[in-house]
Amino acid sequence: MASAGSAPPFGTVAAPMMVVSRSVDGVFEPPQVVPVQPLELHPFAHALHYGSSCFEGLKAHRGADGDVRLFRAERHARRLAESAVRLSLPEVDPDHVLAMIEAAVRANLEVTPPAPGALYLRPVLLGTDPNIGAAAAPSADAMLYVIASPVGDYFAGGLRPLTLLVETRVPRTTPQFGQVKTGANYAMALNVTLAAQRDHQADQVLFAPGGDVQETGAANFLLIDAQRVVTKGLDGSFLHGVTRDSVLSLARELGFAVEERDISIDEIIDWAKRGEAALAGTAAVLSGVGTLIVEGRRITVGTGGVGEVTQKLRNALVAVQQGEREDAHGWTTVVA
Ligand SMILES: *Cc1c(COP(=O)(O)O)cnc(C)c1O
Repeated sequence: MASAGSAPPFGTVAAPMMVVSRSVDGVFEPPQVVPVQPLELHPFAHALHYGSSCFEGLKAHRGADGDVRLFRAERHARRLAESAVRLSLPEVDPDHVLAMIEAAVRANLEVTPPAPGALYLRPVLLGTDPNIGAAAAPSADAMLYVIASPVGDYFAGGLRPLTLLVETRVPRTTPQFGQVKTGANYAMALNVTLAAQRDHQADQVLFAPGGDVQETGAANFLLIDAQRVVTKGLDGSFLHGVTRDSVLSLARELGFAVEERDISIDEIIDWAKRGEAALAGTAAVLSGVGTLIVEGRRITVGTGGVGEVTQKLRNALVAVQQGEREDAHGWTTVVA
């Protein structure tokens, strides 16, 4: 794949149309498809003060056959509904979210690029009650909207191997929010990530509080070799990625042993001598890790490039997304 070259950075281009639905007294109004425009939000809005907001990120892919397919949109819609519960936001029906996601794709077909690009969809849920005294009370009303952005490669330079700083002291988030896709988690990780970029020329931080290897700021972490894929087992400490789940399924189909269990710092250091490592996420797809920085020491992972097996698993995932490999699990929906 060619590097992004002069393409604008991931997430900076707004597709022209968005879909909006407000919840008033516990009922979401029918979605409206409107041109992208500033939100009408009271400055007292709950989300602006007390963090009652969550979001999702998923993609629609235009295949070589011209069809536009959403990838595992039900799963993302369900995760948004689960985040809403954990943030005490009004309950949202995943089917309502799904219908809005599909409407956003249909309204933005003109700007949906062919592979390797995609249309990135961003559903957002905000608590809107105008009450700055509600620090210890939930927002009764909310706004749900879906925006879209035509994207190329998330990490500048396309398939360049990534450098991760392994952080064992500062956690990414708190135990009760590990699984929630909420803005506060990214705010908490930001200073640590900026310091890793500035002081170590790292791309991302791999959070491993107390030596428990979890994930980076926005992607899950996998160890890979010719026989096995190893990643942390599902618990409340990290975001349960749809990409992680998809790669594990495909790996099983391709004959790999999949191990979901705890991973230690010693194991990643040892694994780096012979194996591969990768980040999995909607934006990152499956990105190879070339270097780990542990206690100031730079450790080359495998050859230091994007691993061969990583590339093979990535290709299998992309082939399903593009409609070029049998979709055995019904992951894709043709929207147009
Ligand atoms: C969104 C996200 C991921 C990746 O999830 P996908 O469903 O694969 O896109 C992983 N970790 C964090 C912290 C995230 O926010």
